Amino acid sequence: MRAVTVAPGVSDSLRLDEDWPEPAADEGAILVQAVAVGVCGTDQEIIAGEYGEAPPGQDRLVLGHESLGRVLEDPTGTLKPGDLVVGIVRHPDPVPCVNCAAGEWDMCRNGRYTEHGIKGLPGFARDRWRVQPRFAVGLDPALAPVGMLLEPTSVVAKAWDHIERIASRAVWQPQSVLVTGAGPIGLLAALLGIQRGLSVHVLDRNKTGPKPELVRSLGATYHTSTVAELDFAPDVVVECTGAPVVVLDVMSKAGTNGIVCLTGVSSGGRTIELDAGAMNRELVLENNVVFGSVNANRRHWELAAEALARADQAWLNSLITRRVPVSSYADAYTSTGSDIKVVLDFEQ
Ligand SMILES: [Zn+2]
Repeated sequence: MRAVTVAPGVSDSLRLDEDWPEPAADEGAILVQAVAVGVCGTDQEIIAGEYGEAPPGQDRLVLGHESLGRVLEDPTGTLKPGDLVVGIVRHPDPVPCVNCAAGEWDMCRNGRYTEHGIKGLPGFARDRWRVQPRFAVGLDPALAPVGMLLEPTSVVAKAWDHIERIASRAVWQPQSVLVTGAGPIGLLAALLGIQRGLSVHVLDRNKTGPKPELVRSLGATYHTSTVAELDFAPDVVVECTGAPVVVLDVMSKAGTNGIVCLTGVSSGGRTIELDAGAMNRELVLENNVVFGSVNANRRHWELAAEALARADQAWLNSLITRRVPVSSYADAYTSTGSDIKVVLDFEQ
């Protein structure tokens, strides 16, 4: 069968293997036929050789962590043949730490977790894969064209879950949300804000392309100004750019009792000036919380599946700006600049 693989740590080692072995039985009881995988920045970093780890004893890693497939067989009866299914990316560490032991592998304390297509587990960019029932998430059949958005949605479902848990420290009636960055994570974070009945503002530097209309058709407001120029103080900020200036600006911009969730991963190495005393004073006097959020556990994947099923399917579909057949796999990993989400299509 076909598999898109890399040699981790070796830049530009991406290739399509035509004779990749069928998934091993010990990968899980549920056998799945791939429908599609989504492509994201992590894949680009792995292809560039900056990141990624092959399974133990192997020198190539199958890419793909944003999965979507159809069940071929499930002897456990958890799912039925033909059901849409997505595989959870992260598996708990083998120790396990207290968080992994409690099913909170997104909060793993020792870093020994594994991740499909990223760290020590084969990815989903292959014709068939297997998954254990506890890492399989069934999807509404209507999500067939867009179900590969579940992984990025799980990331924002966790972010919102933690925002709301932090918010429960006091009476809280949020009204406005600022999302910085209108990539897939930002747009899905905005969707979950709209689903909560909040007034959502999305800030991005792109004045053209599909982003302004995608934000407006969601019922949110699109801004291309700087964060400092916004004329409101958001109750919630979901920062999705990882750009150092934007990160600092949103920390200052959040309103009284405001909560700032950082989801963007910065590359580091860039120094900007900061009045740490003034920043500290603002955070203290406004009861602000700034926190980081990464990955998701099973509960978040299930919340994400509900959120996607409730969303406008045409809007979700419009987040997918290119569908590339596996035969042209390299095109899927080549950024055009105007893409939002590119998908590698195993059915074309
Ligand atoms: Zn752990």
